[in-house]
Amino acid sequence: MKFTVAIDGPAAAGKGTISKGVAAHFGFAHLDTGLLYRAVGARVLGGADPVGAAQNLTPDDLRGDNLRSADVAQAASQVAVIPDVRAALLMFQRRFAGRDGGAVLDGRDIGTVICPDADVKLFVTASDQVRAQRRFDELLAKGADITLTQVGADLTARDARDAGRENAPMKQASDAVLLDTSDMTIEAALAAAIAVVQRAVSLPENQG
Ligand code: C5P
Repeated sequence: MKFTVAIDGPAAAGKGTISKGVAAHFGFAHLDTGLLYRAVGARVLGGADPVGAAQNLTPDDLRGDNLRSADVAQAASQVAVIPDVRAALLMFQRRFAGRDGGAVLDGRDIGTVICPDADVKLFVTASDQVRAQRRFDELLAKGADITLTQVGADLTARDARDAGRENAPMKQASDAVLLDTSDMTIEAALAAAIAVVQRAVSLPENQG
């Protein structure tokens, strides 16, 4: 069975946790597409050419310890503007989406560009303040030396670049369900996402 769930939204809105939870609930595979751009960004910080890095990504590149750092996040959003970088990562994402057994992909352009025909699309968001606090808490727990103001500024810069780029900007697909998690616990947000996916899984065309 092929069944694709596309989950987009800005940084620290809860996409990652929701995507993993949805995938675990339905037994689908999960791809965090931001990790692909982070891996390219990390290689560029190490001196590599962005397009060459995107064309030659290896599974090992996706396992780097530093991929979740604020520096790598900024580098990721800078390389994500380059059309040839996006083109180099496109087929891998589409193949993943089309695998048997169901797939959840989260990112910025999944519902609009990578999988415009996804069975379910969600756009997960939260207020700027809530997202900054969440990311700050996450980074602090990892021992990062950073302030809430810095984290807020990083997110604002990244959102502006991601939403403003010409090629595959971050955008809610017209047929995506909007999930604002600002006032939700993660459990409530995940339950809401699962309910949306369950409705689509239960449609007659997706049975048997
Ligand atoms: O989701 P995450 O914050 O890890 O993504 C890092 C960066 O990768 C984003 O800020 C964005 O610039 C880029 N990205 C993208 N398209 C995706 C996923 C991530 O442009 N589908």
